[in-house]
Amino acid sequence: MNPHAQRAFGGPPGAYRDFDATELFCPRCRRAVPVRKRLLLVLPEGDKYEYLCAFCSASVGTKVSRGEAHLRLIV
Ligand SMILES: [Zn+2]
Repeated sequence: MNPHAQRAFGGPPGAYRDFDATELFCPRCRRAVPVRKRLLLVLPEGDKYEYLCAFCSASVGTKVSRGEAHLRLIV
């Protein structure tokens, strides 16, 4: 298997790692920063997380993770 075949995610090479987004670009710090993950919303299609810059706490991105364990409905 070609290890480079899986890297077709469209981002700039090296600037984005897919595993849980440990570093994102912060527009305020103007650099890639470590981020903290915060649960923002619980949506029908999954949990929406917000990524906050570890240095200045600016919001640097959001992500909806499809939860497999969220079939429990609150009625
Ligand atoms: Zn920042």
